[in-house]
Amino acid sequence: MRILVTGGAGFIGSAYVRRLLTGAETTLRPDRVTVLDSFTYAGTEDSLGTVREDPRLRVVRGDVRDADLVDATVAGHDVIVHLAAESHVDRSIAGAAPFVTTNVVGTQALLDAALRHGTGRFVHVSTDEVYGSIDHGAWPPSAPLDPSSPYSASKAAADLLTLAYHRTHGLDVVITRGANTYGPYQHPEKVIPRFVTNLLDGRALPLYGDGGNVRDWLHVDDHCHGITLAHQVGRAGAVYHLGGGTALTNRDLTGRLLTAFGAGWDRVRPVADRKGHDRRYALDTTTTRRDLGWAPTVDFDAGLAATIDWYRDNRSWWRPLVEA
Ligand code: NAD
Repeated sequence: MRILVTGGAGFIGSAYVRRLLTGAETTLRPDRVTVLDSFTYAGTEDSLGTVREDPRLRVVRGDVRDADLVDATVAGHDVIVHLAAESHVDRSIAGAAPFVTTNVVGTQALLDAALRHGTGRFVHVSTDEVYGSIDHGAWPPSAPLDPSSPYSASKAAADLLTLAYHRTHGLDVVITRGANTYGPYQHPEKVIPRFVTNLLDGRALPLYGDGGNVRDWLHVDDHCHGITLAHQVGRAGAVYHLGGGTALTNRDLTGRLLTAFGAGWDRVRPVADRKGHDRRYALDTTTTRRDLGWAPTVDFDAGLAATIDWYRDNRSWWRPLVEA
């Protein structure tokens, strides 16, 4: 089994590669894992940790928008797990162009290459944000896409293209839509690592608006295992929801982090709300549980405590990213 992982130097991609090569994904025994990553500000080789020296790993420094390079890299792989993306909503509000080119055009380059080379399966890793905000209940996978940010709009466009390649060309695709993911090696621009590293450094925590926005938290190991199951038992053309099962307002999340550090609310600095800020995300995971046998396993409090410990013990990984 030869697996191409795009974005394999980023947060979820590197966790997936580490899990593949350390045997944590017990049902997958890859002969080769190729990482295709352009190493933007969000990707580092250090995130691959101990598996960097694994002889089954090959790292290609390249851009998913480079169709010739993508074509040459895709050749010889049985499956593509596509995670490469511009992923930060705030950056997409400041400037949408790289989101459209990487997330949409890059996905199209990969889909074309998969088609040309007869790749067995294309797993497109997407997000709950494509549906936009939901006041009550949870989105089923059949819900219409109604994204709010340039980030989520670019992901929605990529999802639709992926499904179109299945319907038009018969390409074997599956899509996962994951909830807000947390764990080690996440860039300190995202809320949990940002708040944890600020607490470690004695800095204030910038809390958006009234702090009432609700996010559903999913541990990165559970997210990765959902990707594996979608790859192995998912139905071609299907969308699988990977919900975390722990819905918290940003205020609740902040309170838990303050408690973990023995800090008070005086450490919090309210800031103007994000433009177009979705109030609540929620995924209905019924079909994923039934068809893939997947459910999140990491208890949020335990996962958060371990994540805090990881940032405490790995300052050399995140310090340069904070300073940049
Ligand atoms: P990340 O920003 O940590 O990593 C993205 C990786 O893609 C980086 O290594 C970066 O160098 C690489 N990359 C960016 N542009 C590229 C390009 N043009 N060519 C090649 N490589 C490029 O992101 P993440 O949080 O690990 O997210 C991975 C995927 O999962 C994304 O597609 C994202 O939309 C999706 N997702 C993330 C979350 C989350 O909470 N983090 C939740 C659901 C879905």
